[in-house]
Amino acid sequence: MTANQMGGSRMDTNQADSVATFGGGAQVERPLGRSIKRGMLNSCPACGSGKLFRNYLKVVDNCASCGEAYHHHRADDLPAYLVILVLGHVLVGGFMLTDLAFPAPGWVHFAIWAPIGVIASLLSLQPIKGGVVGLQWALRMHGFSGREDEVETPLPARDE
Ligand SMILES: [Zn+2]
Repeated sequence: MTANQMGGSRMDTNQADSVATFGGGAQVERPLGRSIKRGMLNSCPACGSGKLFRNYLKVVDNCASCGEAYHHHRADDLPAYLVILVLGHVLVGGFMLTDLAFPAPGWVHFAIWAPIGVIASLLSLQPIKGGVVGLQWALRMHGFSGREDEVETPLPARDE
């Protein structure tokens, strides 16, 4: 009986936490599409006027215009993964189509597609990273929920 009551109260607390994390009615709306679009255009997902990047791939700590914090974004290697996913299909498809239309030796294709691959990757990495940060901001992921990420408590050693 007591255990049930404890379990019940614990569930209530968890529910309150998840509402606070993933957006309740009281919170300001963060439209997903608009946030991703603003991030891809190198502007702050929150206000749309400040810059999101202070360098090629360095995200600003705080928006210069509205002060929104971005230092706790966790884009990590998702932008690179997405660039590889998208460009891989475009480049391999392009190589195969041109080889069908204009058969050429391998080194000719390499000389054409390798520079295109490098340039397209460098050009698309910043907008895609901006879109990922915008997505994380809109979904209140990680520090964007208003709370710090909690460090997992390690399990005790098994032989203790
Ligand atoms: Zn801003």
